[in-house]
Amino acid sequence: MPAGQPESQPARNNRDWMGDGYSFTSHGAILTRPPEPPAMNPNLLMPAVTLKAGDALLVIDVQRDFMPGGALGIQEGQLIIPPLNRVITAFLRQRLPVLYSRDWHPADHCSFQAQGGPWPPHCVQNSTGAAFDARLDLAPKPLIFSKGQHRAEDQYSAFLAEDEGGQPLSATLRRQGLRRLFVAGLATDYCVSNTALDLRRAGYGVIVLTDACRAVNLDPDDERLALRRMAGAGATLVATTDLGIYP
Ligand SMILES: [Zn+2]
Repeated sequence: MPAGQPESQPARNNRDWMGDGYSFTSHGAILTRPPEPPAMNPNLLMPAVTLKAGDALLVIDVQRDFMPGGALGIQEGQLIIPPLNRVITAFLRQRLPVLYSRDWHPADHCSFQAQGGPWPPHCVQNSTGAAFDARLDLAPKPLIFSKGQHRAEDQYSAFLAEDEGGQPLSATLRRQGLRRLFVAGLATDYCVSNTALDLRRAGYGVIVLTDACRAVNLDPDDERLALRRMAGAGATLVATTDLGIYP
């Protein structure tokens, strides 16, 4: 801009000389008509991920205490239920396993503030708060894995959570020949991400269903960092709407 020319001077030379939608003014190029829409990529119309043998769904800690109003309520936790139930239905319809983890603490668990831990008491064994949310669909014979059962040890990852017979989840994955885990639930920045990272370390494929997860976000950035950490470890992040399970 020439010296002395006031900045507020209206643009005079605003004709679209090149016919490309841009006009040039004393303030630089401006777009005078909307840009063309990008050409449709036919691949975008295909589902990004399809279910196959060796897949399983792992539903992490969808328990009453983690829902809004619960002892350790997670904002918007209830919003994961509708997409999660649709995925559960899709897995069961294709006879693919659906596995559930739960936080399952003794009353004097080390993660509770009274014991010097970071959390208020939550998911105490056999309490109503430890029950699965009533809106969550359970498989006819649900495979349930409990974690944080021992007083002196907390467990964010469900990888070594144990079934009723004391067998770890990892053993079930091996025994059933499962290779790829779809992971969803609560909370993104603790149990979901720790589980996903353990699965990746053990060589499993991991698909995180982002719209079927919510984070605690003690720090507002925690969710973003957790997603980035999982993606950095080779997990695929997709929305349930990308699974090709919707009519
Ligand atoms: Zn816990």
